[in-house]
Amino acid sequence: MKAIKVKKLYSGQIGSALDNAVAVIDGEKIRDVLTDEEFKKTDRYSQADLMDYSDYYMMPGLIDCHVHLMFPGNDSWGNVFGEYIVRDWTEGEINIMAFRNAMTALSQGVTTLRDCGTLNYASINVKQAIKNQHITGPDILSCGAPLTCTGGHCHYAGGEADGPWEIRKKIREQQKAGADFVKVMGTYGGTIGVTKTATFSDEELQAAIDEAHLRGMKIAVHSCTFEMTEKLSRLAVDTIEHTVLCSADCSKNNLDIELVQRIIDHNIYVDHTICCVKGAIAMFGQLVKAGVATAEEEASYYSNLNYDRLTVESFKFQAGKGVPYIIGTDAGWRAADFKASYYENLYVMERNGADSMELIHASTLRGAKALGIDEHVGSVEKGKQADLLLLKKDPAADIAEAIKNPEIVIKKGEMVNR
Ligand SMILES: [Zn+2]
Repeated sequence: MKAIKVKKLYSGQIGSALDNAVAVIDGEKIRDVLTDEEFKKTDRYSQADLMDYSDYYMMPGLIDCHVHLMFPGNDSWGNVFGEYIVRDWTEGEINIMAFRNAMTALSQGVTTLRDCGTLNYASINVKQAIKNQHITGPDILSCGAPLTCTGGHCHYAGGEADGPWEIRKKIREQQKAGADFVKVMGTYGGTIGVTKTATFSDEELQAAIDEAHLRGMKIAVHSCTFEMTEKLSRLAVDTIEHTVLCSADCSKNNLDIELVQRIIDHNIYVDHTICCVKGAIAMFGQLVKAGVATAEEEASYYSNLNYDRLTVESFKFQAGKGVPYIIGTDAGWRAADFKASYYENLYVMERNGADSMELIHASTLRGAKALGIDEHVGSVEKGKQADLLLLKKDPAADIAEAIKNPEIVIKKGEMVNR
């Protein structure tokens, strides 16, 4: 048993802070949280090793609700499209990339991550290796291959299905292989040659939602158009990924207050992946150089997918109206790497009006609730897994700066990055 004494403890519950706190850790779990004064008075924990970090702040480990472990997340890599990775990499290489990225994320304080689409079950393989204690790593939730129509976004990952019964079967296959939730590609994305129509018919989409819930799984849907986000706000989906509010021509956002209210009323969580678009724009010139995109496409991409005007505006609008947002980085995809992405996402949100205390909650307990794992992780509370960060800077003052290269990361009670 050990007792970690800190200057201030943020539990992850909204607005919760405890000065001069002690967290008692027994094995993998948090045994108790109390003030230093209470700790001194009790003899319940006299056996505990007292670790004095009284110039540090404590908060729960971060939860990244949207990553792709098998992608390099490195724009200088050359393999900027999943299509090329499938073509050029061996299965072993893809698994090793997934493992490397999981370790990088953990070193940056991400103690739980949700993989929103993988090749060859790579993220399930890494998850299993961690679960079976071959290696220490973050907790991983994986969807396996994301569901898409024949030739749809990320078709190369193996999740193609057409018609309600093929969709249901594909979901059953993914669950059998170890998937924890269902991911549906609701619209186009960055896959070569995919048209900007919705991926599935209403009937197919409903079959995916019904099958996921029937099998006790949550369902996340990728939405890169206003039309799809609008549709999803009326359906029983659990999270909306990217949550774009502009139409397919990317000319302007549709700031629809009724849509936002429906998302809140239906308890849907939204994931803005606010930095992945920025990374995609930043590397578009390279795609042109490589002959993958044309100069005309580059020009239209820059003018249409204007980052501040569309992505940030959409986040500010939704967050301002009280939509429960979670943090997903899309790390792995394009230029979003596993080292800096979490910091960059929080930085942009904070600089655009998000409150640090709300960001602490969104990064931890709210993310856990959205993924349905808040019984075990997401807060510094009795009985929860001891996934913790010890930080020199106060996250309530500036969470982005505080979690940038976190000083100490604790995973299941063990310090993992010292
Ligand atoms: Zn993604």
